[in-house]
Amino acid sequence: MTLRFYTHPIYLEHLTPEGHPERPDRLRAIEKALEHEVFAGLERVEAPEGDPDTILYAHPQSHLDRIHAAIPEEGIARVDADTAVSPKSWQAALTALGAANAAVDDVFEGRADNVFVAARPPGHHAEKDRAMGFCLFNNAAIAARHAQRKHGAERVAVIDWDVHHGNGTQDIFWDDASVLYCSTHQMPLYPGTGAKHETGAGTIVNAPLSPGDGSAAFREAFRTRVLKSLDEFAPDLIVISAGFDAHHRDPLAEINLTEDDFDWATGELMERAGRFCDDRLVSLLEGGYDLQGLAVSVATHIRRMMKG
Ligand SMILES: [Zn+2]
Repeated sequence: MTLRFYTHPIYLEHLTPEGHPERPDRLRAIEKALEHEVFAGLERVEAPEGDPDTILYAHPQSHLDRIHAAIPEEGIARVDADTAVSPKSWQAALTALGAANAAVDDVFEGRADNVFVAARPPGHHAEKDRAMGFCLFNNAAIAARHAQRKHGAERVAVIDWDVHHGNGTQDIFWDDASVLYCSTHQMPLYPGTGAKHETGAGTIVNAPLSPGDGSAAFREAFRTRVLKSLDEFAPDLIVISAGFDAHHRDPLAEINLTEDDFDWATGELMERAGRFCDDRLVSLLEGGYDLQGLAVSVATHIRRMMKG
C-alpha cells in the first residue's frame, strides 16, 4: 500500500486560548510518535494551501466571509463559545482543506492508495452556515464534494468515529443521497445531535454509544450499522473523519476504546476500500485531546494503513 501523510507547520500557528483542548501540541505529539523507524517508509508531503472557492462546495459565501472577517490582526478572537481564531487561522484552515482535497486528488490520480491528513483546525462540527466545536470549515465534506466534482465520483462515504457527533457533516449532506454519512459517537454528549432517527435522505446512519461503553459496544455498532450501510452503499471513495477522542484516556468523553479498536476499524474500512473503491481511502484528523492516547492511536491507524 502506498500511504501519503500530509501535514504543514502552519497548522501549529492556529492558536486557541490557554488551556483549550484543541491545541498545537496535538500535532507535535503525532509527529513525535511518527519518528519511530517503522514509519521511515511513510511518504511525507507538505500540505498545499487550498482554493478558497472549494469552501463553497459545502458552505455559502456568507460563511466564508464571516470567518475571514473574524480573523484578528493579533491575539485570539472567538467565532463561537468553543471556537477561536488567531492571525494565521485563515491560512491554516485553507491548508487543512487544501490537504484534504489534495489527498482526494492523490487517490484518484494514482499517487497513493490511501492518505492520512494531520491538520488543524478540524472540520466535522462546521455546519453549512455555522462554525462551532473548534471547526471553521468542514474538511471532510469539502473533500467528498471535491471527489464528486473533479473526479466524477458518484457515491462517497464519510465514516466518522470521532466520539462527538459530526453535526456539521450531517447538516451539509442531510438531503444529499449521493453521500453516505455514518457516525459512531457518545450520546448524550456535545453537540447533542446524532440520534438513530436522524436519517436525512436515508443516507445518514447514526450509531450512538452510551457513556461507559467500550470495545464490544463500539465494534457491534460499527459492524451492524456502519459496515452494513457501507456494504449496501458501495461507495467510490471512503473518507474517514478520524477523531481519536473515543480513546479511554481522552478527557472530553466517556467511551473506553483502545488503539486496538482503531486498528480493527481501520482494517475493516480498508477491506471495503479494496472491494468497492480501488483502495481509495482518505483519512482526516478530527478530535483527540489526550496527547498520549492521540499519538498512539494515530500511529496505530497509520501502521494499519501502511500494511494494507
Ligand atoms: Zn470529538
